[in-house]
Parts: sequence; C-alpha cells; structure tokens
Amino acid sequence: MPLDYHSLLTAFTLSGCGLAAAFLASWLVSQKERFLMAWTIGVSLMALGVLVYGAYGKTMSPALGATGYTILLIGLAFVFGAGREFRTAILPWRGMVVMAVSSSVTMAVPMLAGYNGIAILMLNVAATIILLVTAWDYWLGRAEARLMIALLTALYVLTGLSFVPCAVLLLQDGQWVLPQIPANWAEDLNIGICLTTLAGIGALSLALNQARLARGHKRDAETDPLTGLLNRRALLARLAGEIKGPAALVVLDVDRFKMINDAHGHLAGDDVLRAFGEILTLSARPQDLAARLGGEEFALLMPGTSLVSAAILAEGIRTRLAKRDFTGSAGAFDCTVSAGVAHTEDSVIDFDALLHDADKALYAAKRNGRDQVAISSDEAEFLAQIRPLPDGQRGSADIVKLRTG
Ligand code: GH3
Ligand code: MG
Ligand code: MG
Repeated sequence: MPLDYHSLLTAFTLSGCGLAAAFLASWLVSQKERFLMAWTIGVSLMALGVLVYGAYGKTMSPALGATGYTILLIGLAFVFGAGREFRTAILPWRGMVVMAVSSSVTMAVPMLAGYNGIAILMLNVAATIILLVTAWDYWLGRAEARLMIALLTALYVLTGLSFVPCAVLLLQDGQWVLPQIPANWAEDLNIGICLTTLAGIGALSLALNQARLARGHKRDAETDPLTGLLNRRALLARLAGEIKGPAALVVLDVDRFKMINDAHGHLAGDDVLRAFGEILTLSARPQDLAARLGGEEFALLMPGTSLVSAAILAEGIRTRLAKRDFTGSAGAFDCTVSAGVAHTEDSVIDFDALLHDADKALYAAKRNGRDQVAISSDEAEFLAQIRPLPDGQRGSADIVKLRTG
C-alpha cells in the first residue's frame, strides 16, 4: 500500500470533514430534511473519532483510546439514526442511545482496565453490527429508489464486513494487551474500504435526497392543495402520456356552490370541496384519474370504461355527497352535485372533444334541475338500453338523465 496506516486515518478524517460540510450545506438549503443534520453530526463525529484514534496509536493512552472509539461509536449511531430518519422521518433516539451506550461501555471498560486488545475487538464487533443494521434499514426502504438503495445497502454491508477480518485476526492472536494498535493487512483493508465507501455512501445519500426532493416538487406541481387530487395540468399531462382510450370522462360540478359560500362562509365551502375530493378518491378505481379542474368543478377519467359503467359510478358519487351533512356559519346544510358523462372509443384521447361532450351533458343536468347525472351519447342502441326513447329522438346526439333511487 503506497500510504501508511496513519496517513489513511488522516485521509479518512479529512474526507469525513468534507462530506460533513456537504451535508451541512444541503441541510442549510433544505432544513426540513432533518436526516441531513443527523448525517452531518454522525460523519463529523466519525472523522473526529478516527483523528483521536490516530493520536491514541501514537501515545497508547487508554483514556485517549476510549475517547476516540466512543466518539466513533456515537458517530456510527448517528449515521444509523440518519438512515432511519430518512426512511421514516423519525429520528430513533432511543435506539441510537442504546447502540452508542452499550457499544461504548463494552469497549471502554476493557480499554480503561488495560485490555486494549479486547476493547479493539469490541469496537470491530460493534461497528460491524451497527453498519449491518443500518444496511438492513435502508434495504427496508428500497421501494423508493431500487437501484440507488440497493447500492447504498451494498456499500454499508461491505463497510460493516470490512471490520470482521480485523476482529478475526485479534481473536486468532489471542493477545489482549497490545503494546501498539494493530497493524496488519486486515486493518489496511478496513481503512481502505471505509475511505472508499464513505465517499460513495455520502454521494448516494445526497443523490437519494435530491431525487426525493425532485419527486416532492413534481407532486406539489401536480396536486391541488385543498383536495389532494390531481390538478387540471397534471390530468392533461397524464392524458398526453400514458392514458389510452377507449375511456369515459365524468365532469362534476357542485350545485349552487356560490350560495353555500355566501350563506355559510368560504371555510364551509372549502370543507365541501375537501369532502367531495375524498368521495371522488374513494369512489375512483385504481386505474381512474380523479382531478379538480378548478373552483368547484371536478373530473374523473375512467380508462377502458363504458358510458353506462361510468354513469353508474357517477351516480354513486352523487348519492354519497347528497348523504353528507355539513355545518357552516348559518347552521347545518346539505350539498348536491351534478355530473355529465361522455365516452370515446378512440385510442388517442382528444381531451378537448371529450370534455366538450361531458360539459354539454353537465349543462343539461344543471338545466334539468341539478343533483343528477346526465350522459352524452349519439349511439341509438345505447340510449335504448338506458331508457326507451320516442322514435324521433333515436340516433341523434342526446342527453339522458340517469337517476336511481
Ligand atoms: P351551479 O349550480 O350552476 O354550478 O352554481 P354555482 O354557484 O355552483 O356556480 P358558480 O360558478 O356561480 O359559482 C362557483 C363558486 O365557487 C364561485 C367561487 O367563489 C367559488 N369557489 C371557487 N373556488 C373556490 C374555493 O377554492 N373555495 C371556495 N370556498 N369557493 C370557491
Ligand atoms: Mg357549481
Ligand atoms: Mg362551476
């Protein structure tokens, strides 16, 4: 190896400081990402711990050895905590304290009693366990970004396992009072691996965070903040992308919503919109797209669905809203919705045309007294299925009122 062991320890400390600075800068930019702070503390402590351990190697002072390793173990506990916080948004304080205290005590007691061989063995065992637990924790969250998390897990496993040969050589030697810190191929390999994986783990952790932030921004840009449904732009984007026809579109508009706002206040109006958003979400099937088009107007795009099925589902939504009770500044009130349903057989959906048809049906539902579902169809056979029509109307573009119960 071109560098001696102490130079490698110094390199680890410097590299750890650089990484801690990068994490701190990222945290300053986005302080909501609290795991970045846990990482900053963890890496800083590890860098400091290795620096003190280097000094221990020169002086062989038990107090210095115990201090260096304790700092290193607390740093490792913070790195574990940062990983858990990244996955669950909760810093596992108790687990971290248990990890840091139990490992530090089992290391420090023999170190201070003069058995530094046992202390170093304990350090190697504890580091292996903490790093493997951290690896497992990341693995549990792999659904978020399979490739990056698989790589990160592999790096943590590799780092953890690199402490095993150090422990094995100590056990083979069976010498528990060492005149010097261990210097052998396993120690060289261990610090070499740690130096390499530290940079990789740091870069991957930051990249994972960036990817998560980017996904969050995309979600915010696509979501209506009041109802949590897709907004109009996102619905159009999905239509231009993955969604293919045939499909049905239901457009829903809350009835006399302006009167609700005027009589019960804007907040009560917002409650209605939120409740209606919930009803739409619960009523939509996994393949459907529910969106708030704007104001009190909503849409449900239903791929591979016939006009009849879409109308029946819309009727269910209408009924669910009608059954809800609301309370506003002027007391309790009910609320209803009208819906227009349209359908296309085309595989490439012309959203404007489909929306135009659904809007036409919606307008008819409003005109016809509100609180009902209307469909837009120019298929004579279909109209006959829903309701027998007078001969004169067959085959023409028409709106049919579909009302159950
Ligand atoms: P119609 O039955 O014909 O649909 O009558 P309407 O009163 O529901 O329709 P109109 O378009 O006249 O009124 C819609 C109202 O919706 C007007 C606007 O102030 C209100 N509105 C739009 N966005 C929001 C919102 O986010 N929150 C609340 N509370 N009100 C909103
Ligand atoms: Mg309305
Ligand atoms: Mg409206």
